[in-house]
Amino acid sequence: VYREILDALIEQHGPQRWWPAEDPFEIMVGAVLVQRTAWRNAALAIRALKEAGVLRPDRLDDLRREALAALIRPAGFFRLKARRLQSMARFVVAAGGLRALSAQPTAGLRAALLTIRGVGPETADAILGYAFERPVFVVDAYARRLSARLAHPAPGPSDADLKAGCERELVSARDLNELHALIVRHGQVYCRAMAACDGCALRPRCGYHPERVPAERQLS
Ligand code: SF4
Repeated sequence: VYREILDALIEQHGPQRWWPAEDPFEIMVGAVLVQRTAWRNAALAIRALKEAGVLRPDRLDDLRREALAALIRPAGFFRLKARRLQSMARFVVAAGGLRALSAQPTAGLRAALLTIRGVGPETADAILGYAFERPVFVVDAYARRLSARLAHPAPGPSDADLKAGCERELVSARDLNELHALIVRHGQVYCRAMAACDGCALRPRCGYHPERVPAERQLS
């Protein structure tokens, strides 16, 4: 089923080919900066870090917290995110750098990422998938909403079941990353908070259409 969803979404939106970044650390930084904001705001903050020449774990860790917060201001929650970025930079430095982290098996690396302050399952999986090219699926609000609507009126899958199902069926980091990117795109264009179902490629398999009148209401 997830393969069919992937194919339908590629057909609808074209390949997304995330993540726009020059190296894995930039992806890690982006994964924190994009928390609770739009990507364009995170991108502005990344550009400021690049222009200041501090988009490296050691440099980021050495920077004064206030200076870092000022640079990433466009991403919002800048004091909180500055703290999180420095925790992450320190984590990378302490682990012996990105190459040492890359050598870790996926489960161990995920557990290690989850020890970083401000890195929850969604951010950890985004880092695993896009920075380290591990075959993991990112369960975020868009994925939860879409899977719940597809399953409607049955309850949607739990986060764990959704993640396991996607990973079992799609297997490769490339397909899992693409599915996540496409679900985000679909959630911004069609499957929004107020669903815009006209033209949605998933409509034939979807149980949730706001305009669909329940049978009991049709009779009244
Ligand atoms: S048909 Fe509507 S509710 Fe279902 S997936 Fe498409 S946009 Fe979302």
